[in-house]
Amino acid sequence: MVRIPSVTPAQAGPRSGTPGEARMAQWVTQQLQSLGAQVHHQQVLPGRQNVFGLFTGQSQKWLGVDIHMDTVGVEQMQGDPFDGRIENDRVYGRGSVDTKATLAVCLELLRNRAGKPLPHNLLIAATCDEEDAARGAPAMAHWLKDRNLTLDELAVAEPTLCAPIHGHKGVMRQKYRLHGVAAHSSRPELGKNTITAAAKLALAFDAENQRLAQLSPTPLGRGTVAVTTIHGGVGINVIPDSTEFTIDRRVVPGESASDLADQYLQLARHASPLPVDAENYLLIDAFYRPPQDDFIRRIADWSGQAPATVPYCTNAWAYTPATARQCLIIGPGSIDQAHGAVEWVEITQLQKLADLYARWWGLSS
Ligand SMILES: [Zn+2]
Repeated sequence: MVRIPSVTPAQAGPRSGTPGEARMAQWVTQQLQSLGAQVHHQQVLPGRQNVFGLFTGQSQKWLGVDIHMDTVGVEQMQGDPFDGRIENDRVYGRGSVDTKATLAVCLELLRNRAGKPLPHNLLIAATCDEEDAARGAPAMAHWLKDRNLTLDELAVAEPTLCAPIHGHKGVMRQKYRLHGVAAHSSRPELGKNTITAAAKLALAFDAENQRLAQLSPTPLGRGTVAVTTIHGGVGINVIPDSTEFTIDRRVVPGESASDLADQYLQLARHASPLPVDAENYLLIDAFYRPPQDDFIRRIADWSGQAPATVPYCTNAWAYTPATARQCLIIGPGSIDQAHGAVEWVEITQLQKLADLYARWWGLSS
């Protein structure tokens, strides 16, 4: 799988091969079909799809795994990013730890079950676009709703060293554009200066961040907002008629990223003396499930690691109890090896996940 490039298109470059998940989707489809799955495809974006493999089990229970097929870019990588070499009991290459490893483990477990029937129904979901705007996971949630299918237990794959993760903040990113009037800098009163307007906006977001710091904390702490970039002006002697400005807002449980996007546009319009419009970049809600949930406790027991929360975002945000009654994030290897110049996963971690999944699926005790 590492040898099948699947760089998320927004991060494609000269070294990335054919960008997107299409070749992986084709390969996964063949694998799932040869293992006896009923395979469904969901078009999410042009040329980019989610692949669903359904296996019928002996109970009414539905288990599921969401594994994203795309990877981050490879331009910064040392050596051949797609060689998939095995060295020092590690598998190297882009996607090895983030997160083709879990897909490999799932396919091997299904291949090696030696005709043993599955105790429970199983959905293997290979999703797209996680590393860009995360549009694959909400599409899968829609697909589940359309079929009236609620998964009893869903594991979202990310490198967690096989610990169960039960929460992370969400994120809302917005870009504002301020519209002014250009003029000669000797006559500023004839222009409308978007940089001084943006300065007022920056202070308003700073005040908003201070307000958030006074709120009582949620199980994932407090929301934060930061001004992250500002671009404006065309010359030292011109009143700037356009300025762009981005913010990054971390979202906590109980908040809706899309409601926040609306509220923050209002805040920006209120604070700015000049017209403002906004573009949303990422709208991801927080993911939080109580660590006492039976599924989380079982996996914690088996892996010998306590449930934890993480600072980064995953596909888990898209699944509410309506689509996944219980949900956690788990995968082999460490996030420290993801997205870097060298990426690898330890084979002992793959073995550990295989043992955990075999117990979870009821293939071993
Ligand atoms: Zn990932």
